[in-house]
Amino acid sequence: MKKEKLILVGNGMAGVRAIEELLALAPDKYEITVFGEEPHGNYNRILLSHVLSGEKPFADTVLNDRAWYEKHGIRLESGRKVVAINRARRQVIAADGTIADYDKLLLATGARPTMMPLPGSHLFGVMSFRNIAEVETMLDLARPGRRAVVVGGGLLGLEAAYGLKQRGMQVTVVHLMDKLMERQLDAPAAALLKRSLEERGIAVELGAETQGFVGGKQVEAVRLRDGRTLPADLAVVAIGIRPNVELAQQSGIHCQRGIVVNGSMQTYDPRIYAVGECVEHAGNTYGLVAPLFKQAKVVANHLAGLGHARYEDQPLATKLKITGIDLYSAGHFGGGDGYEELVMEDPGRGVYKKLVIRDNRLAGALLYGDTTNETWYYDLMRDGSDISELRPNLLHGHGHLGDAGHSGAVAVASMPDETEVCGCNGITKGMIVKAITDKGLFTLEEVRSHTKASASCGSCTGKVEQILAFTLGGDYSPAPQEKPLCGCTEHTHAEVRNAIREQHLTTIPETMRFLEWKTPDGCPKCRPALNYYLISTWPGEAKDDPQSRVHNERVHANIQNDGSYSVVPRTWGGLTNAKELRVIADLAEKYNVPVKVTGGQRLAIPFIKKEDLPKVWATLNDNDMLSGFAYGKAVRSVKSCVGKGLCRFGTQDSLGLGVAVEKKFWGAWTPHKFKMGVSGCPRNCAEATIKDFGIVGVDSGWELHVGGTCGVRVRATDLLCKVATDDEAIEHAAAFLQLYREEGWYLERSSAWIERVGMPYVKKRILDDGAARQALAERFWHAQQFAQVDPWQDRAKSDRPDYEYAALEVVEAAA
Ligand SMILES: Cc1cc2nc3c(=O)[nH]c(=O)nc-3n(C[C@H](O)[C@H](O)[C@H](O)COP(=O)(O)OP(=O)(O)OC[C@H]3O[C@@H](n4cnc5c(N)ncnc54)[C@H](O)[C@@H]3O)c2cc1C
Ligand code: SF4
Repeated sequence: MKKEKLILVGNGMAGVRAIEELLALAPDKYEITVFGEEPHGNYNRILLSHVLSGEKPFADTVLNDRAWYEKHGIRLESGRKVVAINRARRQVIAADGTIADYDKLLLATGARPTMMPLPGSHLFGVMSFRNIAEVETMLDLARPGRRAVVVGGGLLGLEAAYGLKQRGMQVTVVHLMDKLMERQLDAPAAALLKRSLEERGIAVELGAETQGFVGGKQVEAVRLRDGRTLPADLAVVAIGIRPNVELAQQSGIHCQRGIVVNGSMQTYDPRIYAVGECVEHAGNTYGLVAPLFKQAKVVANHLAGLGHARYEDQPLATKLKITGIDLYSAGHFGGGDGYEELVMEDPGRGVYKKLVIRDNRLAGALLYGDTTNETWYYDLMRDGSDISELRPNLLHGHGHLGDAGHSGAVAVASMPDETEVCGCNGITKGMIVKAITDKGLFTLEEVRSHTKASASCGSCTGKVEQILAFTLGGDYSPAPQEKPLCGCTEHTHAEVRNAIREQHLTTIPETMRFLEWKTPDGCPKCRPALNYYLISTWPGEAKDDPQSRVHNERVHANIQNDGSYSVVPRTWGGLTNAKELRVIADLAEKYNVPVKVTGGQRLAIPFIKKEDLPKVWATLNDNDMLSGFAYGKAVRSVKSCVGKGLCRFGTQDSLGLGVAVEKKFWGAWTPHKFKMGVSGCPRNCAEATIKDFGIVGVDSGWELHVGGTCGVRVRATDLLCKVATDDEAIEHAAAFLQLYREEGWYLERSSAWIERVGMPYVKKRILDDGAARQALAERFWHAQQFAQVDPWQDRAKSDRPDYEYAALEVVEAAA
């Protein structure tokens, strides 16, 4: 069948997204031509802020390179501006005279920045912030010590200011209104934002009207109406955008503020559709990608001839992309007559939350400093859910429903599959989980490229990482740690750890002060990492902080789907006895719960209510049974087979060594969970070659294996070496564990660490120099003196009912 001709004018985010959606629905329906004024393939405009700040190279923003167009048989006319549409002949005409015919035409010409008709606007160095060419010019002009003035204290202006500041410029934001981002923030949130920007060295002038730009050929200053002149080597004007309707208007297509479309994204000419920032739908125009991508879906559906989708506006949500500033604003946040407001303010921590309610429905949300529950609030708002039942805990967030104190991870666990996680791309939790499990995805980058979740504005990245961690369980190792440890600091894991070691820092507040942490108390990402680095670097000296631990470690048990807990005592090397079994049976009977044999050869008592945990631990302790650390980033169990004492194939006493190893190694905190296994012969019944440290009996002694993991991604171990005796096996295990403890990043499995540093490096450190190996092992045994403390015993005896949730000590904000 002959293909129809489809032309897209505007090679930007909305237009190309519509083509991608169309290719998924009807790949062979059209012969497609794309005209784009910019000389590139399609790139992610949102990420220009990160290109400006130096957090991403331009290459990382490319969404569709030229190969993509070729692969789909699309003719790309880049660098060609369309200047006319001949609707009678169904042709578009480009500035260079290129003419192309269409059966259907899709306009996606985006928006143009609003420029002020002020004296000096033409000067070199007075510019808007819309495309990569402008960013490149800004980068040419941005030199440390030079001055930049950003006119406009909205989202774009502030991101420009932050980017230029990151490039070393002295930056002033000039804003006409009396508060920043007045369309997204109320006065308290705007004040917090101003304070955070000033703390980052960005000057803010509110209520300041720009009167003109001063200079010869190039801008030298910005003049304000109050008579002041601000020196400027660069002036960025970011005061708004207006739909780019020039082409449509000249061609007689009905436009008001934007190109007017109906719910099918069709213009008044039935052969011509429009999407993106150029359109006006039901009186609204647009400036964020989430609604545009929904429009793209609808228009693709109609172009594919399926014809049943309709575009409807939904509440809009905004996030600011400035590292370390968490800000979320959605819906009708202003309140007023007929609205109720729930407000929580904690200026010391820089946290402000405001929820606006009308008729028991959430109408708006404004979150500053803690945006953990943004998705939940958005869903409640979008779905118009009745929140009467949720009111008591609404401000505290999703995690506080039912069982107070759960972290974001629990919020993700209880998030319904249909919850939209990536608003830009309309990707739900269910779609992400399905992609992870069906396609065996393992990293954030893989999820991005398969689902597009977090690939646009990036503000849902934390949520996607939590879903990855939740879906993969312990197999998840976050992305390489060259980035800052978290939004609270500019420092990487390596820098933090070196500072702790070199400066002899022993407490979290001390570390935060020394490294000029940007938040007073840190966050759930950095506190557990800092706690681990401190206690592993200074055993016996640095004090473990129970409140800087992830939820399961705080309660010394694994939380389950229904909010109850699973209690797993230690069974040394997988060996138990009648007395222990009786204790477990009695507990199971008492609490009317089953007993589960785990993969690590332990007995788990599930379904224990939180309030019963201390009683269960006390009973176990009274019978000499210790915590199995099944919940911890710590040495877990040592799985062993029966070995030569019982098995006719066995060459070594794997059970004896397994019990001995577990008794020596239990209690050690590690960057991530650490599993061990001992098999009595190469038949390997204890599956030692998928453990972090595996020991396999051979005729001449033991083979030692490292860096195995099992789960969504299986990694078999690498052979470290062979040794002759049990003592040698134990010394090598201690040295390996200590090296990983000292050099692995928090939340990095030993497998990921080995892939990062390479097996030759590990062998060099453990095998090449016997004295160095012994020193590592000695440091491990030294640490064990302080680590082998049963947390259950400690906790069962504690008379502090608020043990896990005592208020955090507020540390001084960094200067
Ligand atoms: C720095 C920056 C940061 C942003 N941050 C966010 C954010 O965090 N979150 C968010 O949701 N949104 C953000 N946005 C907004 C987002 O980028 C836009 O909403 C989105 O790019 C609009 O898509 P579009 O396809 O309508 O327009 P564009 O992406 O602008 O694409 C339009 C394309 O059409 C071309 N064109 C125009 N006229 C013609 C013609 N006559 N012939 C040929 N080609 C033509 C243009 O050159 C352009 O390439 C940001 C924007 C910028 C500039
Ligand atoms: S690994 Fe070897 S020794 Fe151990 S149970 Fe299996 S066959 Fe027997």
